Amino acid sequence: MSSESDPEIDIMFGLKNVLTKIEAAVGRRNKDLPQVIPRLVAVSKIKPASLIIQAYEAGQRDFGENYVNELAEKASDPSILDKCKDIKWHFIGHLQTNKINKLLGSPGLFMVQTVDSEKLAENLNKQWLKYRKEEEKLKVMIQINTSNEEAKNGIHPSETTKLVEYVLKNCPNLDFQGLMTIGQYDYDVSKGPNPDFLTLSKCRQELCENLNLDINKVELSMGMSSDFEHAIELGATTVRVGSVIFGARPPKNK
Ligand SMILES: *Cc1c(COP(=O)(O)O)cnc(C)c1O
Repeated sequence: MSSESDPEIDIMFGLKNVLTKIEAAVGRRNKDLPQVIPRLVAVSKIKPASLIIQAYEAGQRDFGENYVNELAEKASDPSILDKCKDIKWHFIGHLQTNKINKLLGSPGLFMVQTVDSEKLAENLNKQWLKYRKEEEKLKVMIQINTSNEEAKNGIHPSETTKLVEYVLKNCPNLDFQGLMTIGQYDYDVSKGPNPDFLTLSKCRQELCENLNLDINKVELSMGMSSDFEHAIELGATTVRVGSVIFGARPPKNK
């Protein structure tokens, strides 16, 4: 697919292709689930501002980054500020306390999807007062470690109600939007529905019963390039897709 000489066509093609697949997957979604049209968050990590602008000009508005420094840098990039006035940045990485101000000061920050402790919620709630415009609340999701892997961030599924309740009761500057998971990589769908996606969906079900919330208003952010269609079939309302839009990233060495 990729050709260095004509990246513009690739991005447009990639985006269109993903949007078409999203629509088809919505048609296959279990009818008992909330029929919310999924939001595509284009994950632009490692990719340059020029490609983000191309995607924006092709109609994409929501973008995701998983490092605070990278999000802050791109959000303040003069060409992005100039050409992408309506861009919405989603933070999807692990948030350290010492980076909160940098993140919250980033122009166009739309949502923090990775709140995973009362302490972080409390800090975001306090600091947001300095940055918010027109009393707007900061949209947040709670990250759940559905695969229970030590290397992954997020709370244990059983803590969901407690943390959401904390946000609703104690964080008036935060606007709880839903639940997010990363889950195990390379799950083989031929083995059946992805257990991470089922777990996140179950967390939402129980949360809504426990706190008497409207299930149609609690998002599920799950699914990436390899499995976003499957995630939508199982109820995703936000999918985070990077490489099939922007091209493969170099493998990370841990
Ligand atoms: C990188 C990343 C994605 C997108 O991954 P792709 O496989 O490139 O689609 C989604 N979610 C998170 C949290 C990520 O860090």
